[in-house]
Amino acid sequence: MQETIHNTRNFSIIAHINHGKSTLADRFLELTGAVEKRKMREQYLDQMELERERGITIKMQPVRMEYLSGSKQKFVLNLIDTPGHIDFSYEVSRALKAVEGAILLVDATQGIQAQTFSNAELAKSLGLAIIPVVNKIDLPSAKIKETKDEIIGLLNCKPEDILEVSAKTGEGMGKLLEEIIFKIPGPAFINDFKNKQALVFDFGYSAHRGVIAYIRAMKGKIKKGDELFLSQAKEKFVVQEVGFFRPELRETEILSEGDIGYVITNIKKPAIVHVGDTVTSFKNPLPPLSGYAQPKPVVFSGVYPDSQNDFSLLKHALERLHLSDTSLSFKEEGSGVLGRGFRCGFLGMLHLEIVMERLRREFNLKLIAALPSVVYLVFLKNGKKEEIYSPALFPEDFEIEKTFEPWIEIKIIAPHKSLSSLLKILQKREAIVGDIEQFTSQRVSLKAGLRLAEFMKNFFDEIKTASQGYASLGYKPIGSKEADVSRLDILLADERVPAFSRVVGKSQAQSEARELVGKLREFLPRALFAIKIQAKCHGRILAAASISALKKDVTGYLYGGDRTRKMKLWQKQKAGKKRLSERGKINIPHEVFLKMLK
Ligand code: GDP
Ligand code: MG
Repeated sequence: MQETIHNTRNFSIIAHINHGKSTLADRFLELTGAVEKRKMREQYLDQMELERERGITIKMQPVRMEYLSGSKQKFVLNLIDTPGHIDFSYEVSRALKAVEGAILLVDATQGIQAQTFSNAELAKSLGLAIIPVVNKIDLPSAKIKETKDEIIGLLNCKPEDILEVSAKTGEGMGKLLEEIIFKIPGPAFINDFKNKQALVFDFGYSAHRGVIAYIRAMKGKIKKGDELFLSQAKEKFVVQEVGFFRPELRETEILSEGDIGYVITNIKKPAIVHVGDTVTSFKNPLPPLSGYAQPKPVVFSGVYPDSQNDFSLLKHALERLHLSDTSLSFKEEGSGVLGRGFRCGFLGMLHLEIVMERLRREFNLKLIAALPSVVYLVFLKNGKKEEIYSPALFPEDFEIEKTFEPWIEIKIIAPHKSLSSLLKILQKREAIVGDIEQFTSQRVSLKAGLRLAEFMKNFFDEIKTASQGYASLGYKPIGSKEADVSRLDILLADERVPAFSRVVGKSQAQSEARELVGKLREFLPRALFAIKIQAKCHGRILAAASISALKKDVTGYLYGGDRTRKMKLWQKQKAGKKRLSERGKINIPHEVFLKMLK
């Protein structure tokens, strides 16, 4: 058997969103005295204002705790909290590579949910020790026995392996702490003082001290003054400081194999560092550890400053956010109406929403986000191949040979009685329904293939509504498939408005066209001349409407019945309006953009 460092335990908590991870982490901090009681507040590890407000974890925050076990032995516990939302499953996989064990937490009032599955699969594939825990047992609606049965089905474990806790009241926590010591192996002990190797699982940045690498030391010891090397970035640096997370940074002498801590690098080029990189010694380098797959953005949207004066501020803000969120991508682009901005890539709609919100709050920016889109791979008749991120740039039908679009596989767990309404939604959305399994006596689990573009259009909300809020959803990308799509344009007074263009399935073109025209007709303010609104697709006008001109009473000052003089004035007005509408430049107010992009 491999020798291990007997007094360190590195672990994560994995769970579906709202099943109580952050609350459980709070209890750990309290019970181990890592955070003084007077400083304790709810969701302690969720440091971002936005996280507390929404009650969700976006960034994991590692913390080191000291624990005196029942047998009066001292242990070091390193906990890495992980986010629960599907958009952030990438962060989960990062956390899990740095630990030996995981607590699989399941809310007893909800049972196993779709993401519990994907997280458990991930933990199993990494060979982690898993401690199954049923949470919220203090609630009268807790179904402890059923939840345990579901967990047994998932992990193939024994009923007595499953612990019961209330993260809220603290019930069962003592036993859980002992189980962590007992079940999760300590990190492997490698008697190697010459070589150094550590996995960078995240990093922060300080203007004064440069990149701060969050590491899991695998081999060797790291201390101040060491000459180290980042394998992927190919960057040498001298360690300025090492330390632990308490959860704020606390300096220490040495980080040894098995430890989780930080290294201050003084590297001032944040763009070159990536999570998943390996830190090793400069003189005696070891090969890089197998890091992480780079996260691939799946949703793209143009982000523009409300005022063009804020363009460089927006650029700076995106660069800053990118440091701690490598999954965010951005590239400068220009759009006629909206000016200069960026085409940003996100992991999903929640990620998009969170980034927009952070830009607004943390950088005080007023922004406009264009309609989100997936990436289309277009093979043109001229033999060229293009990746299209922006609907406005999607080629014309006659130029296209073939188009491919991303698909995902979704897994839904829902009450049996909502199955028929779920199937209706899936059919309407042109999903390919796969296995449907009886999951428990009350619930079914269902797999289906779906176009990502379809998923982005409020799919989750619709599923939730159809199941009275009980369905849960997980998804993973499954590559791309040939698509039957075209660009739908909106013309105002015969002029195309690129910001309103979108890519639609051919069968949906007609209904989308009608909807868009209807919306514009409602939102556009009337002008002194009539405005023609048209939706065009496959070279044809699919829907049209017009907004009549504002009527100005030009004859009001004329008394009595001289009709010919009135006629003359009306004629003059008509000619004026014609000139106006021919000049055609229609000002689309910002509010209309915002309403249209919703
Ligand atoms: P996370 O999304 O997994 O981090 O979940 P949170 O820790 O934010 O918890 C979600 C909600 O469940 C919060 O309102 C918590 O107060 C509540 N909660 C968590 N654990 C318990 C528990 O054991 N009992 C009860 N009654 N509520 C809990
Ligand atoms: Mg949380």
